[in-house]
Amino acid sequence: MPRTIFCWRCNMDIPMLTEEEWSLVKPEGIIEEIKLYRETTGCSLAEASLKGWGSKALAAYERITGVKETNPNALLHHRLSLYGPTCQNCGKPLRTPKAEHCAACGAKWNAYGDGLRDQE
Ligand SMILES: [Zn+2]
Ligand SMILES: [Zn+2]
Repeated sequence: MPRTIFCWRCNMDIPMLTEEEWSLVKPEGIIEEIKLYRETTGCSLAEASLKGWGSKALAAYERITGVKETNPNALLHHRLSLYGPTCQNCGKPLRTPKAEHCAACGAKWNAYGDGLRDQE
């Protein structure tokens, strides 16, 4: 099941994919294909998505999360493994799994766990 956490880039709560779900959506492959297509044709990202590029990944994302995303590039960072545990002080996810501070509230973390870390 995807987990909805705060997305730092979208600035809102977004369902993030687990590794298993990520492998079903496979956004990296799609992004590469779109890039190649755009390089060959010189068209814009909007034109490429009009032609249906990325729609497969977007449809898979929607099937899994129930959320309609329209930008295939946004899928690239909707992956749980990119984020750290949830800050127990403010509830936002740490920006990276290795973050030492919560970027939202400044709470300090240590890599060995001091009871602050979400043990999930
Ligand atoms: Zn996002
Ligand atoms: Zn925090």
